[in-house]
Amino acid sequence: MDLRYWLGRAVDEIGAWAADHDGFSPHASASVTDHEMADGFGELVRRLSSSYPFFHPRYAGQMLKPPHPAAVAGYVAAMLINPNNRALDGGSATSALEEEAVAAIASMFGMPSHLGHLTGGSTVANLEALFVARETHPGKGIAYSREGHYTHARMCHLLGMRGYPIEVDSLGRMDPEALERQLARGTVGTVVATVGTTGLGAVDPVHTILAAARARGVRVHVDAAYGGFHVLLDQEDADLLPDPRPWRAIAHCDSVVVDPHKHGLQPYGCGAVLFGDPGVGRFYRHDSPCASYASYATDRPHLGEISLECSRSGAAAAALWLTQKLLPLTSGGLGQVLAAGRRAALRWAALIEQSSVLDLYQPPDLDIVTYFPRTDPLLLSEVEAASRTVMRRGMSDRADPVYLSTARIDAHSFAARWPGAVTDLGHTRILRSVLMKPESELHLDQLHSLVERLATTARHTG
Ligand SMILES: *Cc1c(COP(=O)(O)O)cnc(C)c1O
Repeated sequence: MDLRYWLGRAVDEIGAWAADHDGFSPHASASVTDHEMADGFGELVRRLSSSYPFFHPRYAGQMLKPPHPAAVAGYVAAMLINPNNRALDGGSATSALEEEAVAAIASMFGMPSHLGHLTGGSTVANLEALFVARETHPGKGIAYSREGHYTHARMCHLLGMRGYPIEVDSLGRMDPEALERQLARGTVGTVVATVGTTGLGAVDPVHTILAAARARGVRVHVDAAYGGFHVLLDQEDADLLPDPRPWRAIAHCDSVVVDPHKHGLQPYGCGAVLFGDPGVGRFYRHDSPCASYASYATDRPHLGEISLECSRSGAAAAALWLTQKLLPLTSGGLGQVLAAGRRAALRWAALIEQSSVLDLYQPPDLDIVTYFPRTDPLLLSEVEAASRTVMRRGMSDRADPVYLSTARIDAHSFAARWPGAVTDLGHTRILRSVLMKPESELHLDQLHSLVERLATTARHTG
């Protein structure tokens, strides 16, 4: 699709709709000439050009990529109206689009019932889930993986709840026995299971966690911000999702968050939170003197009545809805995008295992590959220095750049994978590549040889 055409079409169509409302003159106070715009816009574009090329397969660093062009066109079309999904009078059309988009996410997970909405991202989505957890299990704390997102500890602090970090196994997944020991103390009201940790993409055993929690009347929330959409690989190919049980268990958990602005091809900010029990809407009840809820007579709930955020972008809902229309949440739709990244990660992991200059930190659960330049002896200080050198040199090579990121790993976690490591530091840094673009699959050999070359020279020159 040609984005220039569809952006022009958005301006034309919304302009035609506006012209249907009888003529009015724009006020001079905010008028800007094309001549004035040229200066400011020129400077903006110049400044943006210092960004890293997230769109390119040479960029294999953090969780960053541009949105799908359909999302951009949908966003712009709706943004020209600028609906606010807080209330139906501010966003009647886009509230309906949001409900449909969220319902599609609920059926992707196989949830039999749901109450949910979009958010600015998964930070707020997780906050809402923990807020509801506090209301359903007052006085109890929250258990989460020690390698889960830092937001859980922070939000426990914010909500005045006690947080319990749970040990992980040697692949960075929550250790069910450690969880069981914590649950036995009776202080935990909710467990957060992570499907795709931000660092390693590790997937907690949600099904085991769910069984342990249910046995004690404990709630389960799933932080699937990164890895939720990978449920679409279930039944696609057993090699891509060797153990689908964590994803299949999500339908039976109490709440789940997923970030369409990560693997759903959306621009920031688009997160989502879904609850299995629609009755939790009661915890959001509030009075707002300026809200026109009551005057807007309808049985439909306003999205602002079931969310903590007030004003929210209706354009984000339009973008997600349009993207889902074109690339539906099925294995043949968005699943194909995720499958390409997952195949790339598996193949790269295999290439790294055969490499004489790189070592695989651990096999990838998703599409995040972690590795480090081989050093002999295996000293954490050398792994850190070599990883930093590879990243720095790759990013500063103007002719042949490659953009990677590093992950901080504590000595204990490193030694769990590499028992022979000399832990001369309390932590180290390894290389980390998020292969979230399907294009990574097509350029993997080039990426691998660039990284191998950097690792070879990093070893010789330190
Ligand atoms: C990204 C992420 C978050 C935070 O979400 P934002 O969208 O950045 O606010 C929380 N948990 C996990 C597992 C994540 O990957």
